[in-house]
Amino acid sequence: MRGVRHLPESWEALKTDLAGRFLYLFFDYDGTLSSIVRDPEQAVLSVRMKRRLERLSGDGRCRIAVISGRSLEDIRNRVGIAGIVYGGNHGLEMEGPGVTFRYPVPEKMKCALDELCGQLGKALLLFPGAFVEDKGLTLAVHFRRVKRGALPAAMQTVLETARPYRLRGEIVLRSGKEVCEIRPSVEWDKGKTVLWLLEKVEEAVGEAPWPVCLGDDRTDEDAFRAIRNRGLTVFVGEPRETEAMYYLGSIGEVAEFLGGLARIRKG
Ligand SMILES: [Mg+2]
Repeated sequence: MRGVRHLPESWEALKTDLAGRFLYLFFDYDGTLSSIVRDPEQAVLSVRMKRRLERLSGDGRCRIAVISGRSLEDIRNRVGIAGIVYGGNHGLEMEGPGVTFRYPVPEKMKCALDELCGQLGKALLLFPGAFVEDKGLTLAVHFRRVKRGALPAAMQTVLETARPYRLRGEIVLRSGKEVCEIRPSVEWDKGKTVLWLLEKVEEAVGEAPWPVCLGDDRTDEDAFRAIRNRGLTVFVGEPRETEAMYYLGSIGEVAEFLGGLARIRKG
């Protein structure tokens, strides 16, 4: 596992930095702050996690951003803490104290997504349970309610419907087990998002924050790579091949970490 270390075992070594530095905490949401559940609608933030985040957000030398693949509105409502930055669609849009950002997605790509959204809606009528979620700057096609036997054909239908747009370089597709994400083909990822937010704070405050980045997704690897040499990178889950230097084994360990952090920041 290329030396990814269990963070709690390195706590003593990291404590001084974590207690004293000007921090910028970056979190993914699903699988990092909230448990992965079959229906993404049910992914709620526990009271314990929320309290700990609130406590840290009250620390004048600690910034927080939650960046997710969900839409901006969805992620903001789901976390519901004032005073932190929210990033939707993997950072294509952001909002928070001193931050209003919308990646300038070319009109051509936005039209392609709109058109494709309509076409997919029609094509997927053949597959009961499949539906398209319009997240504004991106789309997600959900298959979790599709009968297992129909899944390959449903997936194939999405690929075929999207093919012309993909070949024209307007969109990119990424399919998971039960969801297919369709994004505009732009050079913007979580890594660039994190660096942009760090720079923004440094400009405003005149001090570079120390980034601490937690996540469990492939998209989080971009962020780990971006700050690997200047901050703390933490993969959440059973350790696997990752760019992160540390890991926390579960959401429970993330909550523990935040609790410990809040304690040492106070004292
Ligand atoms: Mg995640």
